[in-house]
Amino acid sequence: MFKHKVFVIDAAAIFTKYVLQLTFPLYTTPQIVNEVRDKKDQEVLETIRITGRFTIRKPSEKNIRKIIGLSKDMGEFSSLSEADISILALALDLIDEGKKPVIITDDYTVQNVAKSLGLSFQPIRTRGITEIRKYIILCPACGYIAQDETMKYCPKCGHKLTKKPIKTSQA
Ligand SMILES: [Zn+2]
Repeated sequence: MFKHKVFVIDAAAIFTKYVLQLTFPLYTTPQIVNEVRDKKDQEVLETIRITGRFTIRKPSEKNIRKIIGLSKDMGEFSSLSEADISILALALDLIDEGKKPVIITDDYTVQNVAKSLGLSFQPIRTRGITEIRKYIILCPACGYIAQDETMKYCPKCGHKLTKKPIKTSQA
């Protein structure tokens, strides 16, 4: 059912700010949150936290073991980080609860394991070609990224903002 659709996000969904375009309830794990150390990325986390539709949850041991076992059978275990395993296991937990999770990830190993479990996933960059702007408005002094493209000066340090092109993959 459409109403039970939720997104399980990996760290790339935060680093790229793609998460700000998602409208359904969001889930992730403490392992993913631990990867978010940069101040700008923590601000993105804080932004989605404020919306009240963001849940950080540890996956069950049962489904962690299931992911480890399956990925070993597939020969993918060594390519998976603890954080990768955690979001795959969390997606299985959500299915057990009757939800329809979609994993947001660009990681091919995560996608591969998800596919073999029948889990839905959605890449970031391939969608980004049509949905993400081809440039960002950036402060060259402090690294602030403006959401509003009409802004001229950095609200943090007052430096003049510049337009910076984003590399997009055509693959
Ligand atoms: Zn600045």
